[in-house]
Amino acid sequence: MSAKRYLMQEITWPEFQERVGQEIIMLPTGSLEQHGPHLPLGVDVIIPTNLALRTAERLGQGIIAPALGYGYKSQPTSGGGPLFPGTTSFDGITLILALRDILRDLARQGARKFLVFNGHYENVAFVTEAAELLIRDHNPDGDIKLVIVSWWDLISDEVRDACFSEIGFPGWDTEHAALVETAMMRVFAPELVRDDLVLDDQAERIPNYQVFPPPADIIPASGVLYKATYGTRERGEMIVDQVVDEIVAIARREFVEGESA
Ligand code: ZN
Ligand code: MN
Repeated sequence: MSAKRYLMQEITWPEFQERVGQEIIMLPTGSLEQHGPHLPLGVDVIIPTNLALRTAERLGQGIIAPALGYGYKSQPTSGGGPLFPGTTSFDGITLILALRDILRDLARQGARKFLVFNGHYENVAFVTEAAELLIRDHNPDGDIKLVIVSWWDLISDEVRDACFSEIGFPGWDTEHAALVETAMMRVFAPELVRDDLVLDDQAERIPNYQVFPPPADIIPASGVLYKATYGTRERGEMIVDQVVDEIVAIARREFVEGESA
């Protein structure tokens, strides 16, 4: 008797057919984006995919569709922007339509409960639009429900304060390739963190408006927007445990409770 399989790519079509209408369909959305010299380009996919796996294991249900590994364009003050080699992005319209197509085609096959795990700051409005289009245009029986979680929104004030007490919290946009992502990667894929290259950095200035094309002094040359050396495994465990608890609670509240047995 093997353990239950949660990755859609690892189950067969009869298994999918049997489970698709009952279970929560999970979709991680991320980016292919520079994360400093010490973290890999796939951080924004690796983190939400692992959060989805832990959530499914805790719930004992869920089908995790393959992550969308490209996201909306990295911006200078929240991801470093497009000038770093490796950062490869969709135009916004492409991201909206790619997500809408995935959700629509899963709904066509009977999926009714969607939980999107977003791992890339710049994706939020586009994931929201894809959800809006699904519910408005591809929901004939009105029985589809979709929840979007972006993990940074779920971190409690207590955990945030405990992590940032020594250095001050800079805001989630600036927390890129820095304390939290480094700490979470030490939990989910420690072999991918280059220990000898972890550093603290920050932009010379952070404007309170947007400039196109971006001036060089708003982007740290390392691509690390804040203090990565504080991203310890211990902090990572604290963050991951609290965030997974929160997502499990959300999933139970939105999808499980009130369901007829
Ligand atoms: Zn990231
Ligand atoms: Mn990102």
